[in-house]
Amino acid sequence: MPELAPTLAIIGGGQLARMMAQPAIALGLPLRLLAEAEGVSAAQVIPDHMVGDYRDLDTLRKVTDGCAVATFDHEHVPTQHLHALEDAGVAVRPGPDALVYAQDKGLMRQRLGELGVPCPRNALVSDPAEVEAFGFPCVLKTTRGGYDGKGVWVVRSRDDTAEPFRVAAEAGVRILAEELVDFRRELSALVVRSPSGQAAAYPVVQTTQLDGICHEVIAPAPDLSEELAGQAQQLALRVAGELGVTGVLAVELFETASDSGGDGRILVNELAMRPHNTGHWTQDGAVTSQFENHLRAVMDLPLGSPAPRARWSVMVNILGSADTEVGRLYDGYPHALARDPHLRVHLYGKALRPGRKVGHVNTYGEDLDDCLERARHAAAWFRGDLGNESE
Ligand code: ADP
Repeated sequence: MPELAPTLAIIGGGQLARMMAQPAIALGLPLRLLAEAEGVSAAQVIPDHMVGDYRDLDTLRKVTDGCAVATFDHEHVPTQHLHALEDAGVAVRPGPDALVYAQDKGLMRQRLGELGVPCPRNALVSDPAEVEAFGFPCVLKTTRGGYDGKGVWVVRSRDDTAEPFRVAAEAGVRILAEELVDFRRELSALVVRSPSGQAAAYPVVQTTQLDGICHEVIAPAPDLSEELAGQAQQLALRVAGELGVTGVLAVELFETASDSGGDGRILVNELAMRPHNTGHWTQDGAVTSQFENHLRAVMDLPLGSPAPRARWSVMVNILGSADTEVGRLYDGYPHALARDPHLRVHLYGKALRPGRKVGHVNTYGEDLDDCLERARHAAAWFRGDLGNESE
């Protein structure tokens, strides 16, 4: 059989890879997956998969053999391995020289500082005395390996610094200190950029975190001035261009209050170079989803429109809480789907467990309160804690 289209390798078998599979089917794009284990989220839906360790170069070579392009479900593949794949002729997108700024928060702060991008005041610190000199309260972060709020601590005294330094020493990484930003809210500017330089910017969204995990997203961010939204989009496009990002770049932002009481200011918190939780609303709320545009970008195809399909879109994650019982999410379907025929549900093929992201729901429409109510209700229903919600 002739090759129908070039094969795209995806490293990492989580829900982001799973959600790339849907537009890959529509685009007729063959995928090959490297999964952490048999049966993980993306391995359930991508038949051409192998199981192995993404830290092992031979495994990476095997999975990308014959693939034109490789992309990622996560940012943890060692830089030197990515260079080796490039040397072997695989187009790695995003490339190692860009990806390093999503892997290492210290390097990211340094580079953004050089580019004059507004960031919280920050410094690499080696011991508690240096944190004290930086000033309490502050936020300590491991430079590498953190995700979903793991590896982030608010510290108010020298005593609080013991745990972060213990974790960092164990992991062999450094600690970055940042000023504790008194933000008004968190925003995310998501852009997508192709190797030939075409770029598209999605509307800037408002995100709410629960215990460091993205929980709720409203698109577009309510009451955000056109000027500040434009600034955030420009900033994200500029960062994508300067760092040479290919695929999706999510720039997580803090909006701070201004001294004059008018428009706030934006500061960059984090960069993610892959489809991002703050872009899941695009699956149902935008003309082209972030997953499809990520595929188009890494394959260097023309990008699709990022325009919203409705005035408002809301995404709420389905997240097991501390006292969640292990449950079968499918059991929630009869009520959730009957109550709201416009609800869009995305489950990741994972069992509900405390603290685990197992899916999300999207709503869209003309009335924000209605979208919020429907999405929150459905997510609470799936989580099994409707005791806190009114029917
Ligand atoms: P992760 O890599 O886990 O996503 P982040 O650096 O995004 O970690 O931090 C997780 C959350 O912690 C942020 O979404 C924000 O709510 C809070 N946070 C991070 N840095 C700061 C800061 N400098 N000031 C105040 N809050 C912060």
